[in-house]
Amino acid sequence: MRSYKAKMVETISLPSREKREAILDEAGYNAFNIPAEHVYIDLLTDSGTGTMSDEQWAALFRGDESYAGSTSFAKLREAVEDVMGFPHVVPTHQGRGAENVLYGCLVDEGDIVLNNAHFDTTRAHVANQGADPVDCPIEGAKDPSVDGPFKGDFSVERAREIVADVGADAIPVVVLTITNNSTAGQPVSVENTREVADFAAEIDATFVVDACRFAENAYFVQQREAEFDGSSIADIVREQLSYADAVTMSGKKEALVNIGGFAAMHDAELFEAAKQRAILYEGFPTYGGMAGRDIEAMAVGLREAVEPPYVEERVQQVQELGEMLEAEGVPVYKPVGGHAVYLDAGQLFSQLPREQFPGQVLVCELYREGGVRAVELGSFAFPGANRLELVRLAVPRRTYSREHLEHVAETAGAVADRSEYVTGLEITGEPPVPELRHFSATLRPVTE
Ligand SMILES: *Cc1c(COP(=O)(O)O)cnc(C)c1O
Repeated sequence: MRSYKAKMVETISLPSREKREAILDEAGYNAFNIPAEHVYIDLLTDSGTGTMSDEQWAALFRGDESYAGSTSFAKLREAVEDVMGFPHVVPTHQGRGAENVLYGCLVDEGDIVLNNAHFDTTRAHVANQGADPVDCPIEGAKDPSVDGPFKGDFSVERAREIVADVGADAIPVVVLTITNNSTAGQPVSVENTREVADFAAEIDATFVVDACRFAENAYFVQQREAEFDGSSIADIVREQLSYADAVTMSGKKEALVNIGGFAAMHDAELFEAAKQRAILYEGFPTYGGMAGRDIEAMAVGLREAVEPPYVEERVQQVQELGEMLEAEGVPVYKPVGGHAVYLDAGQLFSQLPREQFPGQVLVCELYREGGVRAVELGSFAFPGANRLELVRLAVPRRTYSREHLEHVAETAGAVADRSEYVTGLEITGEPPVPELRHFSATLRPVTE
């Protein structure tokens, strides 16, 4: 049962099959090129696509647009301290702005940054400092046949091997991403967080948590980590984040807003350095690239994120979508994470070679069949990497109903039923940067 009801609606419609075929062709078989008005259910991302509460909309009107000393900033600072436990906050235009500000202060050329798995923008900002981003996932983290309660954990064992190799001095920062977006949204335990904090202290590195999905992670901890059985989400969040020196946050995820972000920290000296860099790249440190009204809404959203009905329903809705898809005979990456269900297109279209992009074929078939938009995270998005042909169905927060997700499952089921008859794709146009090709490359069905 949902603990909210609609107060404002947005009309969506399913274009005719004929129209969907034409749109797909016009878009060069790339879902990023489909105009949103022609998408029925949009599961491209959970970033900035959620629904704000009436309290957040009311907060927008109270936004203080003062250049310096905005009262909206004071409310954000208080919310960050109450919810996450950090006294110093630097607002930024979104998560990657926080990464630029923080890693610009902490990381130098030639350094190595360790992370359970770097998210794309984190990796890019570490690399932009001239440093080397290295992942330390636990064994089996990327294997869908391995079950486990905390597959997002950081392998301290792997990290120690790297220290033995390069020396502790080369590693100024250790990052823990909760939940672990790059390994199918898998959670990280509090026990692992403590181990990583101890390890970071041992090598004298700053311990940063990428906290984008901190509340979803806390829900998994409550359900799966014996020590926290019966603890509140708010208490688990405070406990898990208490071990970090700093956090980076994308407000577009679990601050429940459409744009925004921040970095927060304990150390006053780091705060001063971050503010100076923020002035250069983001804006004066009491607005940091955001409108006062957006800061005000983010302060409210951060508090809502740890309210039990929100986070329970949020994660359970994603789990339900996973169950519905499985019931339709669609291969699902298991266990299902916090913000998205990942489908295994390599298994579904086992007759298609990697060069014909089975994941991208599934993305196109989901649109063709039911106007559903998903994103490919396989050989099309990551050229050269030997990885699973995954397709992500990310669920926007507080936005779709069970009926919408039933439509998604039925659509995927219909595609699965005719999986032997689908055609592969080939690239017809590519941008110069291969790492970014899935955003803009064009394709066409293979004709033999
Ligand atoms: C989205 C995200 C970011 C970057 O945030 P943006 O607001 O998109 O810039 C960083 N880390 C993780 C884990 C994310 O999911």
